[in-house]
Order: sequence, then structure tokens, then C-alpha cells
Amino acid sequence: MQKIILTGDRPTGRLHIGHYVGSLKRRVELQNSGEFDKIYIMIADAQALTDNADHPEKVRQNIMQVALDYLAAGLDPEKVNIFIQSQVPELTELSFYYMNLVTVSRLQRNPTVKNEIIMRNFETSIPVGFFTYPISQASDITAFKATTVPVGEDQLPMIEQAREIVRKFNQTYAEVLVEPEAVIPDNEICKRLPGIDGGAKMSKSLGNCIYLADSAEELRQKVMNMYTDPNHIRVTDPGNIEGNVVFIYLDAFCKPEHFAKYLPEYESLDALKEHYQRGGLGDVKIKKFLYAIMDEELAPIRERRQEWEKRIPEVIEILKKGSIVAEKAAAETLSEVKKAMKIDYFADEEWVRDPLNAV
Ligand code: ATP
Ligand code: MG
Repeated sequence: MQKIILTGDRPTGRLHIGHYVGSLKRRVELQNSGEFDKIYIMIADAQALTDNADHPEKVRQNIMQVALDYLAAGLDPEKVNIFIQSQVPELTELSFYYMNLVTVSRLQRNPTVKNEIIMRNFETSIPVGFFTYPISQASDITAFKATTVPVGEDQLPMIEQAREIVRKFNQTYAEVLVEPEAVIPDNEICKRLPGIDGGAKMSKSLGNCIYLADSAEELRQKVMNMYTDPNHIRVTDPGNIEGNVVFIYLDAFCKPEHFAKYLPEYESLDALKEHYQRGGLGDVKIKKFLYAIMDEELAPIRERRQEWEKRIPEVIEILKKGSIVAEKAAAETLSEVKKAMKIDYFADEEWVRDPLNAV
């Protein structure tokens, strides 16, 4: 069986370091591993419209932002196929058929949807499109017969839902669809990176982000203003590392070699944490260390982005070609789906010959 990746992001804003550690970085690694037959990366504009129906301009403007972030992060259009969801209408058609395989109560139980309904203050006015987006996500994944979906932890319920739809479809009609596996980060913190306010997960919709496209100065300011331990007033005070954003991000970004390079008086993150907890280690010092580490990782991304920003017509071409390739693949699956569901009338010789008796 072919190994195929499908994953993507909603064009609701520029991509941030939560996307990067949660999914984007892994995609680049998987792309370079050479282990995959096909890699599809989708800009999920149709999904973004499910909770931004009144703001089509926001979605439209962010298509290019997300595409630039992809290229900046190291996705290589020679190796991956980047496309725009709405340009592949087969995905919408698949969703309509999958809707028959899912109950309302099953969708209501989806913890990510539940949580997002609260976050977006939908209360009882939940758009039907939003409520059913796990089904549309199942279409995106299965249309490409994806085996592997690299995502952050919040997406696990979506993958589970997709797997259920696959099983139900294959059982009811015929073995057409492939059950996908989620790939989530090994590092606990990266599964759901919190925002710089230390609260919920970093999310475009919550405005608590460090963006991949932030300048060195913006990054420095965000790090220097980070929430640490409110009771750590004097350097000599013992500090708390629980809920301390600087330490949370150090857990996500710090590697052993960073100490020799930027903070040679400590030999490990554990030693740094231990000193902070004991007292005698100031916030400015740990913030400067975090900034140095993050800038080392983000500077090449920032530079590549500046290069791609000069080549916008080429990026448009990448998206256009990518969408054509994606549509072709999705159309093949859709035709197998329709055949299995017995709605391929004109392509079915038996039906054409004797539509009253064909089964
Ligand atoms: P929105 O608020 O519009 O939903 P978002 O910031 O949650 O935006 P998505 O486009 O929904 O971003 O998510 C894209 C991918 O990035 C998903 O795989 C998701 O799991 C992952 N991701 C998003 N935020 C984080 C985070 N803070 N930590 C780890 N992974 C994340
Ligand atoms: Mg999201």
C-alpha cells in the first residue's frame, strides 16, 4: 500500500510556532525522509469559512500568508503538493455522502468541536457547516487515501471520526477507503503549545501567538514580555516553573547543545530549572536564553519567507498546479465511492442495459 500524507491548516491567520512544533516541523521532516509516495498539504479555506462566513476577505487574504509560511518553513513544492480546499469540489461531494454515516449525537460528543463551540461563543447558534466540519475533514483525508496525518493533539478526535467513517463506509458499501493514522509530536509540550499568555493553546483565533513571520524585534519583545511567575519578584526569590511560559517554551525548543552555545554555566535544562526553583536566577537571564534559542530556529524561516515574498506569482502557480493535481486524485476516489454506493448509473453498463432490474 502507498504511504500518503494529507494535512493542512485553516487560512484564518499567519501560522504560528504552535503550528510549527505541532505539525509543520514534522511535515518537513517527513517530506525529507523520502518515505512517502505522496504528500498533500491543504489550505483549508472551506473549513475556515464554517466559522468565518461573514469574513470571506479574512480567509482570502490568509491563503497567501499560509502558503508563504509553508514555503518558509521548508515545505518543498517539488516534493509536496500544496492546494486550496475549495478548488477541489469533489471534497464537498464526498462530505454529502459521508453525512449519512454519522449521527448528530456522535458529532455532539466530539470534544474538539465542543471546546471550539465554547471558544467561539456560538452558544446555541452553531452554524451547521461548523458543526459538521469533522465530516468534511474526513473527506479531505480519505479523498487522497491518506495513511498518515501529522497534526497537533487537538485533531485526534477528528482523525478518530474519520477512521469511524472509513470503517462504516467500507462495511456498508465496499472496501474503498483507507483508515488514516494521526502522527502527533513526541514532545508533550509540542502536542498543544500554550499561547504567550500562558492560557489556552496558542491559536490564531485567540491572539496569543508568536508568528513564524514575526521579525527578530517582535520575537524579542514577545519573549521579554512573557508571563513567568508573578511571585518571583526579586532574583533571590524561589521561582515556580509550573505554568511559567518561558520554561514551557524552553521545554519545546531547548536542545542540550544550546547550553554550550548560549548559557555555558548550566549543563542542562534540569539544572536551569533547579536553580530557578531554588532562587537566585532572574527572569531576564532565562528570557534572553529563550530568545537566542528561538531566534536560531526562526531566523532561517524568516529569511526564506522574505525570499518567497518576492516571488508571489510563482507561489500562485504552485497553488494552482497543486489544486489541479489534488482534484485529479480526489476525483478518482470519488468515482470509486460512487460506484460502491451504486450511484454511477451512466458508467454502469448493467444499469444502462436494464435500469429496471439492475441491482
Ligand atoms: P483556528 O484558531 O483558526 O482554529 P489554529 O491556530 O487552531 O487556528 P488550525 O489551522 O486549526 O490552527 O490548526 C492547524 C494545525 O496546527 C492542526 O494540526 C493543529 O493541531 C495544529 N496546531 C494548532 N495550534 C496548535 C498548538 N498551539 N500546538 C500544537 N499544535 C497546534
Ligand atoms: Mg484550530
